[in-house]
Amino acid sequence: LYKRSSQLFAEAEKVIPGGVNSPVRAFKAVGGTPIFVKSAKGAYLYDEDGNKLIDYINSWGPMVLGHAYQPVVDAVIEKAKLGTSFGMPTELETEIAALAVSMVPNIDKIRFVNSGTEACMSAIRLARGFTKRDKIIKFAGCYHGHSDSFLIQAGSGAVTFGSPNSPGVTQGTAKDTLLAKYNDLENVKTLVEANKGEIAAIIIEAVAGNMGCIVPKEGFLQGLRDLCTENGILLIFDEVMTGFRLARGGVQELYGIDADIVTFGKVIGGGLPVGAFAAREEIMNYLAPLGPVYQAGTLSGNPLAMAAGLAMLKALDSDREIFTRLEEKTAYLEAGIHRVLKANNVVFTINRVGSMISVHFDADPVTDFQTAAKGDNETFKKFFHGLLQEGVYIAPSAYETWFITDALTYEDLDFTINAIDKVSKTF
Ligand code: PLP
Repeated sequence: LYKRSSQLFAEAEKVIPGGVNSPVRAFKAVGGTPIFVKSAKGAYLYDEDGNKLIDYINSWGPMVLGHAYQPVVDAVIEKAKLGTSFGMPTELETEIAALAVSMVPNIDKIRFVNSGTEACMSAIRLARGFTKRDKIIKFAGCYHGHSDSFLIQAGSGAVTFGSPNSPGVTQGTAKDTLLAKYNDLENVKTLVEANKGEIAAIIIEAVAGNMGCIVPKEGFLQGLRDLCTENGILLIFDEVMTGFRLARGGVQELYGIDADIVTFGKVIGGGLPVGAFAAREEIMNYLAPLGPVYQAGTLSGNPLAMAAGLAMLKALDSDREIFTRLEEKTAYLEAGIHRVLKANNVVFTINRVGSMISVHFDADPVTDFQTAAKGDNETFKKFFHGLLQEGVYIAPSAYETWFITDALTYEDLDFTINAIDKVSKTF
């Protein structure tokens, strides 16, 4: 099935360490050859071996409207033809900024960078600068980007990863980063108490897509909000994955909780490399004077990326039904998966929020991210490879979230549910 992909992977390994880009790590954990993609349109991937796959990864989230969404493609082509001068101001940047700020609650100003990683790094720097404090609390299991320079080894598979059940609060080894246990407010309070007056920010994936769609327990986010307010700590919602996907206004809107700084990536770039961080005016204005926290790069806010992101946000802004539709499709898929796995006596848990979903097999519970780095559990491997054979491409790790797009039809969803039925009969 994957002869050409195997050849391409062998060639890639000669010149790129590990073969190809990061998702390969996850892919290697389940075994098999990473698929080389030739083209992608709507809900489908077309690989180099001639297979058509229904895609539930969707570039790890950005393609909320499907691949090669025409208005985004057109905007990029038009801008590329016009020619661009990176680093010079363009109207596009202001336009997308104004639109983003109008869609998301509680933010007045936004700044663009090139990735979710940069967005989170910038948010941390801003929080440290604004509060004149150094320490940061992050949660074991939450992922804030591939750079480990601002948080202890925060990259995929690094030691900070753990499940929400990992024991107690641990204190990180890297300077100034404290690790907390997800969903355990008392532990966070203990950390704050032990470091009174020193903590600049708490950064969190308010829906933890990087642990397989773990949701905050009732009262947890509000508890964090109150704790931050009482202690002069800035609450950072990392919405790189959830922003413009779970709801128009992201997690803040979904749960009705205000963050102090929000980070974006993925959807906001319409598939091109864009990250952003945003906050209320008094916080963002800290960046206005040329000072110690200079946050921009050569390609920050570049016109091609801004054109793509703007076309994407305009599409999301103009269709008020979109998030409802996404939710309905995902709920339909969830119900279908439930039905067939149950009928086949598979013991499982499904986590879902909006258009993000993750299936966990209770026979091999998700306990520790490091296990995933060594290789996912056997049930999941069977599930993943079985679905691949059927033409359905899900995230290649039990610890990852699947992303549903509006391009998926109910026929695609039924096809997927039938494929899951077929595969689960082989368990
Ligand atoms: N934050 C979260 C919640 C993410 O899911 C990711 C990427 O998956 C990042 C940050 C890093 O974003 P990027 O890969 O664009 O650097």
